[in-house]
Amino acid sequence: MNNRNHGKIHPILLFLISTLLVFLIVVIYFIIREKDRTTSRSLRLMSWFRDPQAHSDWEIVAGERCEGAAFIFPTNGYIGFLWGDSFRPGHTHQGIDIFGSPLEDRTPIIAAYDGYLTRLTDWKSSIIIRIPDDPLQPGRQIWIYYTHMASSQGESFIEPAFPPGTYDLFVELGTLLGYQGNYSGNPGNPTGIHLHFSIVLDDGVGNFRNELEFKNTIDPSPYFNMQLNAAINDDQIPFCENIDK
Ligand SMILES: [Zn+2]
Repeated sequence: MNNRNHGKIHPILLFLISTLLVFLIVVIYFIIREKDRTTSRSLRLMSWFRDPQAHSDWEIVAGERCEGAAFIFPTNGYIGFLWGDSFRPGHTHQGIDIFGSPLEDRTPIIAAYDGYLTRLTDWKSSIIIRIPDDPLQPGRQIWIYYTHMASSQGESFIEPAFPPGTYDLFVELGTLLGYQGNYSGNPGNPTGIHLHFSIVLDDGVGNFRNELEFKNTIDPSPYFNMQLNAAINDDQIPFCENIDK
């Protein structure tokens, strides 16, 4: 018995193996890069919590707006996590997380833009505001989602003016919506006090899409005129060139 190919790798197999290797190297590169990015942001967040006064230049202020931006800042704090960050494999962060100073007793949240507020009957910590005319893409409807406005035990911090079941109620930019909270749905696993803010796409027939899926959200950067896209902003603290007060 004699096999002429004995000891040789078939060229197609060789091609497949090399392609697979290149693919694995690329995947490993991106996993490491993403981990580094999230780690450096987590470390910086810890510095913020330890000594917010030493890092007051990191803080955004509710009601202010970057020059030329459509949205005002919805709360005070440090923008610890960006749109597109990944906290665990397979998960991509759909919005930005703004962490109020631990020195502030309660950190208010205001509407970033005019719109129509809805709070579903089972929402303890969330509201969503419909913007019929996207300021950056006129003619399209978008939604702004605000969440974690409750204690870890589920005591709501949403303003009493917006009880569960509120539907499509007009609120002006700057209206007080509630306060930052810790609520994750699981009392044993609080989120750390912050506001999660995301921009959600419409389903085309007047409803918001499922915010839990990254693909249903859009990059908030152009609305605030600051770099809030994790894929572009590796490790810079988001900042404004100029503030409109
Ligand atoms: Zn978040």
